[in-house]
Amino acid sequence: MITPTVADVIACPSCKLDLYREEHALRCVRCNKEYPIIGGIPILFPASSQLTVNPENLRTKTKSDAIRTINDMSSLDNGLVKQPRSYYLAYFLLVVFLVFKFYWGAMLLLLGFFVDWIAFRRKRSITLDRFVRNPLRLRTIADHYAVDELYRREGMTQPTMSDWVQLSREATGGSWRGGESDIPDDERYLDILRVYRERALPPEVVVDVGANDGRACYEFGIGKGRTFIGIDVSRLLLEEFKKKNPDQTAIQADGGCLPLKDDGVDFLFCAETLEHFTNPDEAVHEFLRVLKPGGWMMIQSPNAHRIRNLNLFHIITLFISLFTDHILQKKTVHENTWHNATTYHWDFSLQDYQRMIRSQGARILELRSSGFLFPKFLISGRRDLFRRKERFFGSIPFVRYFGSDLVLVVEKEALQPVVDPLARRIPRATHGLAKKPC
Ligand SMILES: [Zn+2]
Repeated sequence: MITPTVADVIACPSCKLDLYREEHALRCVRCNKEYPIIGGIPILFPASSQLTVNPENLRTKTKSDAIRTINDMSSLDNGLVKQPRSYYLAYFLLVVFLVFKFYWGAMLLLLGFFVDWIAFRRKRSITLDRFVRNPLRLRTIADHYAVDELYRREGMTQPTMSDWVQLSREATGGSWRGGESDIPDDERYLDILRVYRERALPPEVVVDVGANDGRACYEFGIGKGRTFIGIDVSRLLLEEFKKKNPDQTAIQADGGCLPLKDDGVDFLFCAETLEHFTNPDEAVHEFLRVLKPGGWMMIQSPNAHRIRNLNLFHIITLFISLFTDHILQKKTVHENTWHNATTYHWDFSLQDYQRMIRSQGARILELRSSGFLFPKFLISGRRDLFRRKERFFGSIPFVRYFGSDLVLVVEKEALQPVVDPLARRIPRATHGLAKKPC
């Protein structure tokens, strides 16, 4: 639904200027490009991104091709194999040191190495198996668009987000748990809801990048009664979004190239999505561009400092990583439940976020981790226990950064208009964000 408020905020994804409404499309006032509206959902991809991927290239052709890609993908979330060289060097030096000082300590570290190695081999073969059987494989965020097209062309039914977990459970007789995150989904949105409510003035325009089926709004009330714009690359998710939030706006677009004007959004959040972007830095730059001065942005993403196993050396490196993140592995394999595919996946460190936000005219309000290791069967469905556990781990120095997710809350600095008493006019202040073509 394109209300007057939405019309004020949306823009051509290429030149970021006004769009005017035609019968079944939107058209840019400057580049004259036409953007279709299908099923009430405007498709606002910049011209350059639409034909970048040949869907045929997404198919896994042979097993050796799959093995090559898997090998290229690194650590499989295990935390040991294919770490940066600095990791192995530090491991080696520590073992050598311990051999002379504490023989049993060296044995303990070596034992940890072999346990990890076995775990990695097992995980790798499971992932490879899924990868080979998968008809489609994705490599970057841009591929989603091509995959949607491919499904449509071949008349295949693509599972939706909400029924994917159900389908997988049925297929494995209830034993499959890959669709569940470490943190129950609702806890993630409760965290966003808390930040949303912390603002002194209720945000007028709320944008969800990677909006999924719009559950932030219909289930948690974020942006309810306000202008809530859900942005996603996946058409099917947005069709679900429209059914569940008929009064709100769904836009099919690339989160790294937002079809929104500068300085128009009060609250933007991006939950568990940034890790799939080809270029996360540019995406964060884009999020800050569309925020109003004084507006808030919230990002939840996987944490590169998280405890992946109980290998003593791994835990030592986590402490080191708080001072330098060069020892961390940040590229892992991720099973994408939405497209039944294995994708590249970035983990972010505290230093990554500090680097991204610095020099962007924004201020970090919160940077912490959430979702600590805990037996799942104990906390599932028990919010009180979950919160108490989060508070407990969150209060321990250093350890508080080792949760499974990182949470970043940022405020875009308000403009400081400089009044020129002679000219009796207020010059337009800048906030350090240069316009960048995507
Ligand atoms: Zn344009």
